[in-house]
This record gives sequence, structure tokens and C-alpha cells, in this order.
Amino acid sequence: MNYNKLPGIFVLLCVATLGHAGTSTPYGDVSLPYKLHQVPDSPVYYIIGRPGVPDAENEGHTSNAGFVVTGEGVVVYDAGGTPAVGYMLLKRIREITDKPVKIVVAGHYHADHIYGLQAFREHTKASIWAHETALDYLGGDVTTTSEDAQSRLTQRREALFPWVNENTYIVGPDKTLGQSAEFTLGGLTFELVYMGPAHSPSDTIMVVKEPGVVFSGDILYFSRVPFLDSPLTDTGRWLDGLDYLLSLSPQPRFIIPGHGDATDDPQYAVKFTRNYIEYLRTTMGKAAEELIPFDEVYARTDWSAYEDLPAFKASNRGNAYRVYLEMEAASF
Ligand SMILES: [Zn+2]
Repeated sequence: MNYNKLPGIFVLLCVATLGHAGTSTPYGDVSLPYKLHQVPDSPVYYIIGRPGVPDAENEGHTSNAGFVVTGEGVVVYDAGGTPAVGYMLLKRIREITDKPVKIVVAGHYHADHIYGLQAFREHTKASIWAHETALDYLGGDVTTTSEDAQSRLTQRREALFPWVNENTYIVGPDKTLGQSAEFTLGGLTFELVYMGPAHSPSDTIMVVKEPGVVFSGDILYFSRVPFLDSPLTDTGRWLDGLDYLLSLSPQPRFIIPGHGDATDDPQYAVKFTRNYIEYLRTTMGKAAEELIPFDEVYARTDWSAYEDLPAFKASNRGNAYRVYLEMEAASF
């Protein structure tokens, strides 16, 4: 071996590694930028997840998460789909402020939003808040894990290895919420409002009053097809939640949804999700009532308004079937 060549090879390897590996975290290296966005003229920040279902390519970073910096500390909303995503969010917080993270609101207990809580549990003293039905997801209390949650964790340990592995565990809430809660921190007013069961049993939105910003969680998807394909989804209640958003006075000037782009046009974003759910309820409801088999109605339904959107292929058929079943059950 020609040892003179080693330094050159070493430099090349380092460049290649840096270009690919990106950032190391205690929960595995990540390569995505985890770019931080700021709501204009406000202390509210967020990161936008990638489209699609959680997989190795998107590193499990598919949901949005964000935080609010106040004079007395930081309030976080959602924590991402792996401990590494949660850690990257924490890293972005530390780039903006050294104030302590006081509260992490888990907007709903679904894997793609809560596995990042582990990073906040292990690297901050934050109190984790969620609606009381989060305990059902956990299987009764914070010390247990339900069968569904456990099987999801097993699936993610395969799909998202090494970011989700045998050291990943589900972090329960320190404080559970009811219908609503309001608190102030560092001069800002936060309102947590329960919207569930809609997308999930525990949907809770966070309104940050003074800057007029809403973290909607997964009751709002913008510029992609929403996910309705769960037996716990309640599309009727979901529409009520969207109507509540439309009725907020004053109207928020900015909404950060659970997935998809954030928007300064809340009315449009709410109507986008609302129209999709309404469309499924109307088309599938009529078919269920007339006893038309699902395959037949699915094939002849006009999907042209949605078929070019991200997540259409992955979610639309399942969504439609779920709503078909929901409407069928409701018609008895
Ligand atoms: Zn989600």
C-alpha cells in the first residue's frame, strides 16, 4: 500500500461522509436539513415533514412540529416521528434561544408525532401535555403500552431502523387535558382545545393568541391528502372541528397543520380538508345507502381533484373505504 495516498483518501472519505450523514444525534445520524421556518413577525417556529408514509428515505420525518419562544421559556407542539427528529427539533430550539423548554403539547397520540417525545424526556425538564384519551393509546396509564401502540412500535422498529430501535419507547403525558385549557407564559396566551375524536381520539389544537397562530395537528392537512384510515376516525366530529377553526374570532393569520405546508390563508386550508372529507362522506355515504359494493363505487368516483396530490396513492383508497364503513354503520 502506498501510505502517501492515505491523507487524500481520508479527506475524500470525510467529504463523502459529511455530504451524506448530515448531523449526528444520540438517536442516530440524520441527513435531512430539518429546516426551521419562522411565522413572519412572531416568535413561532416550525419544521415541515416530508410527504409520504414514514420510511428510511424520509427518516420518519413526515409530520410537522413547532415551538413558541416566550420570555419565560419555550412551548413545543408535537415532537416528530422518531427520537432523532425530536432531538433535531430541540437542536433548532437551542439555535434560537437558551430559555428552558417548559411544555411539550402532544397534539395527538400517533406514532409519527410522539416518538420524538423521548428526546424531550431525556434532554429537557419539559412537562408533556396531552388529552386524557392519550392514556387509552398507552393502554390505561403511563406505565403500560396498548396492543395497537406496541404493534405500531414493532412496525416502526423495522421501517425506521436505526432511528427507531429497541431503545425507543413511548413517552406518556405528565399532565392530561380535558375539553380545553388556557395558560400564559412570558406574556403570551395559549389555548388548547380538544377536537376529538376526529382524526384520532386525542386531537387537541393549540391557539397562540397574540400572534394569531394555530397549530392544528392532524385535523388539518394542507396540499396533500389527509389520513382517515383508522377505525377510531370520526369524520362527523372532524367536520365539527374544522367548523370551529372557521369560527375562531379573530381568524388566525397563520396555521401550521399536522402535515403539509403551513399557510397564511387559514380559510382556504380548512376548506381544502373540509371539502375532501365532505366529498368522501357524500360519495361513499350514497353508495353505502344504496348498497353499492365499495369496489364499484370507488372505481367510478371522480378523484381528479385529488389524484395529483401527495399521499393520494398511499391513502385515498383506504380513506374512502373507511368512510364507506363509517357511513354504512351510521345508516343502520
Ligand atoms: Zn400524522
